[in-house]
Amino acid sequence: MSQISVTVDGKQLSVEADQRPTHIFADNKEIVVCKINGVLKDLWTDLSEGDVVEGVSISSADGLAVLRHSTAHVMAQAVQEVYANTRLGIGPPIKDGFYYDFDPENTFNPDDLTKIESAMRKIIKEGQRFRRRVTTEAEALKELAHEPYKCELIGIKGPAGEEASVEVGGSELTIYDNLGRDGNPVWSDLCRGPHLPSTKHIPAFKLMRTAAAYWRGSEKNPMLQRIYGTAWPSQDELNAYLELLAEAEKRDHRRLGTELDLFSFPEEIGSGLAVFHPKGGIVRRAMEDYSRIRHEEEAYEFVYSPHITKAALFETSGHLQWYADGMYPPMILDEEYNADGTVKRAGQQYYMKPMNCPFHNLIYKSRGRSYRELPLRLFEFGTVYRYEKSGVLHGITRARGFTQDDAHIYCTKEQMVGELDSLLTFVLNLLRDYGLNDFYLELSTKNDEKFVGEDSDWEEATEALRKAATAQNLELVLDEGGAAFYGPKISVQAKDAIGRTWQMSTIQVDFQLPQRFELEFSATDGTRQRPVMIHRALFGSIERFFGVLTEHYSGAFPPWLAPVQAIGIPVADTFSDYLGDVIKQMRKAGIRAELDASDDRMQKKVRNAQMQKIPFMVIAGEEDQKAGAVSFRYRNGEQKNGIPIADAIAEIKKVVQERTQV
Ligand SMILES: [Zn+2]
Ligand SMILES: [Zn+2]
Repeated sequence: MSQISVTVDGKQLSVEADQRPTHIFADNKEIVVCKINGVLKDLWTDLSEGDVVEGVSISSADGLAVLRHSTAHVMAQAVQEVYANTRLGIGPPIKDGFYYDFDPENTFNPDDLTKIESAMRKIIKEGQRFRRRVTTEAEALKELAHEPYKCELIGIKGPAGEEASVEVGGSELTIYDNLGRDGNPVWSDLCRGPHLPSTKHIPAFKLMRTAAAYWRGSEKNPMLQRIYGTAWPSQDELNAYLELLAEAEKRDHRRLGTELDLFSFPEEIGSGLAVFHPKGGIVRRAMEDYSRIRHEEEAYEFVYSPHITKAALFETSGHLQWYADGMYPPMILDEEYNADGTVKRAGQQYYMKPMNCPFHNLIYKSRGRSYRELPLRLFEFGTVYRYEKSGVLHGITRARGFTQDDAHIYCTKEQMVGELDSLLTFVLNLLRDYGLNDFYLELSTKNDEKFVGEDSDWEEATEALRKAATAQNLELVLDEGGAAFYGPKISVQAKDAIGRTWQMSTIQVDFQLPQRFELEFSATDGTRQRPVMIHRALFGSIERFFGVLTEHYSGAFPPWLAPVQAIGIPVADTFSDYLGDVIKQMRKAGIRAELDASDDRMQKKVRNAQMQKIPFMVIAGEEDQKAGAVSFRYRNGEQKNGIPIADAIAEIKKVVQERTQV
């Protein structure tokens, strides 16, 4: 056998020509897929002279995606074993797992998942090899004649939708055969690959749930059954993930929203449109009030704009060209009709606003602007409406109506660098004030295929954002080519108490809108110049940030945000009057304090206060009353006795003022 020379993980090797990566990496069980000349490939791929091969570990992002996608294959194979007449949709990897869409004879139920899991275990134990086979469109259509959805994908191969491209993207059409112990195919699936070398490389998996899903995401298509699953490099990692999910479920803001009486989504109003109850209203107002104070300190000016506007504004801004799908359909007003019902005079179209920027641009444009006024920072708690698909709605973190803490900054090119730098510092410090402390930054740079504006402006703005980001000493992740066409952006990603990442603030430079709105200012030399515009939402939306904080704190808000900061619990009825008076003094001191005057016994009152996650239980019995004192019981169960009333008030006021958690 002749020898070929290849580079493996940076080292030059001479190997027999029939050696494949699976042989080369045979000693390293972590390597489940590889990159050949930079492209992700099966370990069974043939090598050629000069190939550069890199092993990809199962724990890397690519490795995990291949593990999860391969597990999706095994699931599909198992489903067709158990329910022979099930037709296959697609099965891509997703964050932390995978799914596969099926068209089964009968809707799946939870028992089915157990059956499918045990069929999967058998397939995994058999160690079936995934074998790649190149085919032609005609052959594939014949072979997959019984799989109508796959046949449809064959017709759209190439750069199709992101998820469909897992199946058929790329230049060659390929089918993967799962080989049984005797080396013969036992099951096949149309797929681009790559996959694990064999099913025995799936260390740990679990099927999670089923859901209905339209074929290829369109409601015009048939409704399929989706099964979600997860797969991990070890049982320990799977267990840790399942624990995280259980913890996340306990903290789910939708559940806490009901338990703590914060907000609700009445069906009468419609999907994705929340109402805030009094307690949620207090949290929200505390969030807004603090934000308002901080923005005033940073020289923002507060503006207001209406919820609806004539279509022309969103034509000028371009939203109707590129964002119409995300908008509520227009209201047609003042239409006039002929006697026969035909339209005599076309009506005026009004839209609910999905964004505030165009309104702020009109404020900017309402009169001439001088360089002396810049940077001009316009701020609005602006409520916007976006027609999100019902499938993506998620409590108040993804709603259809929400209020952005939206600001637009207009500055000169020279001011941009300084402005971005101070803006990022302001944003991060404010997030820290709300209790988030673990961040990384993501910088989205120009997509060379799709952008407006001058290259030099992009470079300057991107460099300014990069400099501002680097100055923060935080991890900076590059999202190369990920910017919107109108400008580069930094987004702040925050980790919550259980390590989940949330995209929070974005700082977006915009080269387009100042042009479309013909924004100008008169410069020092008297010439008319175009300002740079920066969009920036700090919370994203108040609702979303509310949801994130609810989950971060698991509903146990720090006192400054807590709807009720202190609850009075008398040891017995006889101390109600005394404690009622203490509570009154607390309220006078600006503390949100209440007396539990219900008929419940003390222990029940304590439990209720714990359920409501109230930071301070203020308890009074005989000794407290005699001494003119109270006792504190904290959320962690600790108790402090005999605190003089004035000290008790001072302690609560201090943590509220300092916004510390207790
Ligand atoms: Zn596949
Ligand atoms: Zn904007």
